[in-house]
Amino acid sequence: MLDKVLIANRGEIALRILRACKELGIKTVAAHSTADSDLLHVRLADESVCIGPHQAAQSYLNIPAIISAAEITDAVAIHPGYGFLSENADFAEQVEKSGFTFIGPDPETIRQMGDKVAAIKLMKQIGIPCVPGSNGPIDDNDAETIKLAKGIGYPVLIKAAGGGGGRGMRVVHTESHLINAIALTRSEAKAAFNNDKVYLEKYLQNPRHIEIQVLGDGKGNAIYLGERDCSIQRRHQKIIEEAPAPGITPKQREDIGELCAKACRDMKYRGAGTMEFLYEDGKFYFIEMNTRIQVEHPVTELITGIDLVKEQLRIASGEKLTLQQSDIHIKGHAIECRINAEDPRTFAPSPGTISYFHAPGGPGIRVDSHIYGSYKVPPYYDSLIAKIIAYGETREIALARMRSALDETVIEGIRTNIPLHQDILRGNSFQKGVVNIHYLEKWMNL
Ligand code: ADP
Repeated sequence: MLDKVLIANRGEIALRILRACKELGIKTVAAHSTADSDLLHVRLADESVCIGPHQAAQSYLNIPAIISAAEITDAVAIHPGYGFLSENADFAEQVEKSGFTFIGPDPETIRQMGDKVAAIKLMKQIGIPCVPGSNGPIDDNDAETIKLAKGIGYPVLIKAAGGGGGRGMRVVHTESHLINAIALTRSEAKAAFNNDKVYLEKYLQNPRHIEIQVLGDGKGNAIYLGERDCSIQRRHQKIIEEAPAPGITPKQREDIGELCAKACRDMKYRGAGTMEFLYEDGKFYFIEMNTRIQVEHPVTELITGIDLVKEQLRIASGEKLTLQQSDIHIKGHAIECRINAEDPRTFAPSPGTISYFHAPGGPGIRVDSHIYGSYKVPPYYDSLIAKIIAYGETREIALARMRSALDETVIEGIRTNIPLHQDILRGNSFQKGVVNIHYLEKWMNL
């Protein structure tokens, strides 16, 4: 097993990684910015190193500072969490070149999956269904592009090959807007991702977002751990996730899951990963693969009983995957609400000092959070402050437990989106489990 792991992240995921390390007897180093010395995992880690000022570019995205921190503390591996450098192939490469283990896939896999055009190409070769589209990047030939879009059928979605976090996408409803919209998306993508490659996809009208969790050991063994439904979104960002996805049959799960596991075996995929799909009229369409742990991983943990972060650590230590597909049994239902420090109506960020915090509890409730009373939420980072996850033998029980948990939670001093979650959970369509990705924005009249 790894001796000492440096955690190159912050907030709830840094604490989640720390807890998994402790369980496995791994020593921990918290690498943090000047704004984060009061974070819970910094206090709980065996060692901590300040890697730079509050600006992420100079701390959590500062590759030399993170590698130096690993060097001076004798860490043997680096866990990137999610966001920040977690899907940065250059970072993974430099970590490995410096003699440390990167807790994630090999840099080449990250690079290939980070380019959505390359990822789609590979998945198609493996036989995974993808959204009808341009089958590759679009070039400067406007006449060809117009023909291509016509063939796909409007509305079409322009997507940046290097996009992420819900950015780098633009819907086009009519031909007259196409060329301008492409130019705009290209220049935005160049500025945001330093990659102006864009491609076209059919813009699906009523899809659900359903994703498959996978684990591979880098030696050609891989399994799938069921699916998650993440259709409650705003601006292509997930707010509520659940597992299993309502209405998906065991046969559908097995068919798509087995395809994903096969893709991972073919790639010799190493670590935890997620293959994301849109699901419409009974069909799955691949959109992208995330080569890291996801925010919503706990719902899968609760229905399978598998600790995904511990699996990441075991795989990174070079162990063969001991889990087999036949070990994975889905039991019950789990729902996660992402609690953000923001106004529940306007979504304006609401950083500041938490004057009082009371966490929910009771059967089936898990809270993944780094906050505590008197903790000051800094304005510099993502607004996620807690994840409340409810488990039940059935979806109805999980929902009832989640409602109670949201009612029990008290966070004073800042605004949170808890009232929004309470409203969503009362919604008829959500209760029936039939919402698609456009539901929340339509329902809120956004
Ligand atoms: P990102 O990497 O930014 O998360 P994704 O490709 O994963 O981008 O897409 C994020 C979300 O955008 C999806 O969950 C879905 O809501 C929406 N989306 C992506 N592709 C399409 C499409 N072809 N049609 C309709 N919505 C889409």
